[in-house]
Amino acid sequence: MTPIYTPERPLRVAVIGSGPSGVYAAEALLKQTDVPAEVDVYDRLPTPYGLVRYGVAPDHLTIKSVTKGFEKTLADPRVRFLGNVEFGTDLTHEEALAHYDAVLYAVGASSDRRLGIPGEDLAGSMSATEFVAWYNGHPDAAARELLLHASGVAVVGVGNVALDVSRILAKTTQELHRSDIAAHALTALDSSPVQDIWILGRRGPAQAAFTTKELREFGELSDAEPVVIPTEIALTDAEEAAITDNTKKKNVEVLREFAAHEPEDKPRRVHLRFLVSPVEILDDGHGRVGGLKVERNRLDENGNAVGTGEYEVLPAQMVLRSVGYRGVALPGVPFDEKRGVIPNAEGRVEGRAGEYTAGWIKRGPSGVVGTNRKDATDTVAHLLADAKAGALPGAAQSTREAVDALLASKGVHVYTFADWQVLDAHELAEGKTLGRPRAKVVHREAMLGLRRG
Ligand code: NAP
Repeated sequence: MTPIYTPERPLRVAVIGSGPSGVYAAEALLKQTDVPAEVDVYDRLPTPYGLVRYGVAPDHLTIKSVTKGFEKTLADPRVRFLGNVEFGTDLTHEEALAHYDAVLYAVGASSDRRLGIPGEDLAGSMSATEFVAWYNGHPDAAARELLLHASGVAVVGVGNVALDVSRILAKTTQELHRSDIAAHALTALDSSPVQDIWILGRRGPAQAAFTTKELREFGELSDAEPVVIPTEIALTDAEEAAITDNTKKKNVEVLREFAAHEPEDKPRRVHLRFLVSPVEILDDGHGRVGGLKVERNRLDENGNAVGTGEYEVLPAQMVLRSVGYRGVALPGVPFDEKRGVIPNAEGRVEGRAGEYTAGWIKRGPSGVVGTNRKDATDTVAHLLADAKAGALPGAAQSTREAVDALLASKGVHVYTFADWQVLDAHELAEGKTLGRPRAKVVHREAMLGLRRG
């Protein structure tokens, strides 16, 4: 049987989103030799790598070293990076289907879940997602003026994002200088009066979602120390015996060490609190956060939090909700509103031949960067099986040149991988002169001004 796709007429795939799942999908398409493929990886931002650049904590530089592999993928001649192209407007769903044999959505989860309690829209209450985007220099968040007047900050949720935002707030300027935090955030945090940070888990220590390495970091900060209330982490023998997950066991051990630790009178304290749920964000009388009312909980027989009717007010002037990211619908693409994902069967978009999905928009916001490699590879395996079976609908007779002409006709200024390399080199060189790992360019116009030639 004559193969459908050949080096002269390769399988043409558009990957929407250049975060880890998108780049891992491109990598999986390159790694196989059964089906010759060419891949266009799109991003609405000029910069590639999604959450690796704008989500991973700026002081977790080793996690960001995955970009070395991503660079190799995007620099491969079979792949193009098309940054600064918004799916839905610059490239519509219909246009994507007309120009590619397959379209793979890997746009992550750019929004967040809300608490649904009174006071959530007061000034000083925001999502951890927004705060993370701000300190990481995301172009859409960089212009925000944050009210960093708080001596008390409550962070709701006990996942790794809650630990990230709390650690960034707890670190000194000297500690942050060694990170690639955006300059505006470094300056703003330098005058932050924060003294107390409460990280709030609605269930017990054995149910916390964070990982042990990240928890331990609170014992290693120069000007901040962890505070744990022994009674809040006390477990019955039965509860202790029920912990089967190794990470959760180690978390409990570290929390016990923190609870036993003699106070060192450091100027900042990070309180790891358990069995408390926020019930209302209080107004200070001027439309700003004046406190957080929490209710004490107990665990029921299924391990769910149940309110006890006992309340406490934390003297916080800032509340960061860190209770999970949430996917956002793409124009023309099916969306499960309840779960915030694209409905799919193992990466095949439900009811749509030739459309696929990978990463957080496929399975929801869970796992670490590397989790997306297997996830994307699994989706690509289905895509390739469909391609080999002749099950892709369009077999679009298009070319890279036709895509370029389409985007140019719409006045879209594509930011290429070569352009990104200019920006990347610029940021690294600027960082070097400042004694920092990188000096991020945060404004879109400034990024677009730095390009090849
Ligand atoms: P997450 O791990 O899912 O944690 C969400 C937390 O919010 C949980 O503790 C959850 O508690 C709590 N929560 C949910 N609804 C709540 C409510 N209404 N009231 C109070 N608490 C509520 O999410 P994430 O922290 O956003 O992280 C997302 C993913 O990225 C995770 O897989 C994480 O490990 C990963 N990540 C990894 C790193 C790293 O490796 N260093 C850094 C950042 C993020 P319940 O369990 O009670 O629902």
